[in-house]
Amino acid sequence: MSAEAPLDIVRQTARPVGGWTALIDEILEGRWVSPLTGQPAPRPATRAIAIDESLDGREAELIAALEIEGPLAVVADENTWEAMGRRVARALEVDGRSVVLNGRPHADLPTAEALKERLNGAGHVVAVGSGTINDLCKYVTAEDGRSCSVFATAASMDGYTSSTASMALPSGLKISLPAHAPRGAFFDLEVIAAAPPRMAAAGFGDCLCSSVARIDWWMSHRLLGTFFLEEPYLLSGANDVEMSARAAGIGRGEIEAVGYLVRALVLSGLGVALTKVSNHGSMGEHQISHYIDCFAGARHPGTLHGQQVGVASLTMARIQAAILGRETPPEVGPTRIDEADMARRMGPEIAAQCAQEYRKKAFDAAGAAAFNDRLAGMWPELRAECARIAIPVETMRHELQAAGGATTAAELGLDPAFYREAVRHAHEMRNRFSFADIACDAGLLDELTAAEG
Ligand SMILES: [Zn+2]
Repeated sequence: MSAEAPLDIVRQTARPVGGWTALIDEILEGRWVSPLTGQPAPRPATRAIAIDESLDGREAELIAALEIEGPLAVVADENTWEAMGRRVARALEVDGRSVVLNGRPHADLPTAEALKERLNGAGHVVAVGSGTINDLCKYVTAEDGRSCSVFATAASMDGYTSSTASMALPSGLKISLPAHAPRGAFFDLEVIAAAPPRMAAAGFGDCLCSSVARIDWWMSHRLLGTFFLEEPYLLSGANDVEMSARAAGIGRGEIEAVGYLVRALVLSGLGVALTKVSNHGSMGEHQISHYIDCFAGARHPGTLHGQQVGVASLTMARIQAAILGRETPPEVGPTRIDEADMARRMGPEIAAQCAQEYRKKAFDAAGAAAFNDRLAGMWPELRAECARIAIPVETMRHELQAAGGATTAAELGLDPAFYREAVRHAHEMRNRFSFADIACDAGLLDELTAAEG
């Protein structure tokens, strides 16, 4: 037996049939056909995705296959430089054009502007990092028409291949700004599994919302006739089952479990490329996380998007279950938009922007009456449909905990009173109709929020 045999055994992971990029390759190559329409899904802008136990030694070959022009530059922060950036820069022979951002960089406009200056002369930008570094690179290169790619250092969120960048405006409001998708996204599972545990816990939280977001999105479609596509769930469903079964392995940083998590994040991201909207994985629960990021200020515990989404998913699941558990449908009244109260919590500038969004989905008296009629007409049907999608909250909580995620606001380190404010008011921020809107317009949201935190 060779000396390497034990290592090989340790490395032997139960890969998906067809390998880590099974199904993903089909989508990238335009071969995936929707069983619902018989039509091939449009090819996403990202051309190549690699996921492997290790990509060490393959960096140059992966980038070369993207057929890019001009000199390369590598962008990392201090942590991701140590985790993988130095290795990638060396492999790509770009040491002189590496940008290592100091401290904890933020995805905001001044940081993007400064980064742009430092990337002068580069034709293609290789991000080495997770959310912030990737968002900055996508945003900066989209602005001046350069291309970018990313070596992921953590399985912390599902936006690697998205064409938008989550950026903070000077007002403090975080919004999705148009950017572009990276040409290549590369996932070295050994590197990713070695990232701080809270990163993978965040990624798991970002995936946990799937059933909750689907119920919100489906309800909005059934009751308001808004657009809905089943395809993102067809893409991610089977892998989500495999990933959930390995939640504890994610918490322990096991490579195999992290591999299924990475696949879940990638497939969710490709769902956005397919539908052109993020609704399939971003409804009421994401809004709560968003409210925290925008308005916690000094109370923000420094938690990641996905950690907050995990907790908020449990909250939204409870709100949905409480409403859908009723034999008789709730009755909504006209939406009351209290702009003075919004201005007190959000500041006048952001409150005005949010009120504008909120008005788009607000019911007047006639709208509320029509909604109640529709709800009454399909209540048993809607309950049954949502019940088929729902995962019991206790199952979700158990998995999130096993994956190392916080399950309450207090565990996040967030003031429970502020968290309740976020649950109570997050739906005011965006024109996506969720069960929080029904609860609010039916006068139930105060009561349902009281137990949260
Ligand atoms: Zn998310």
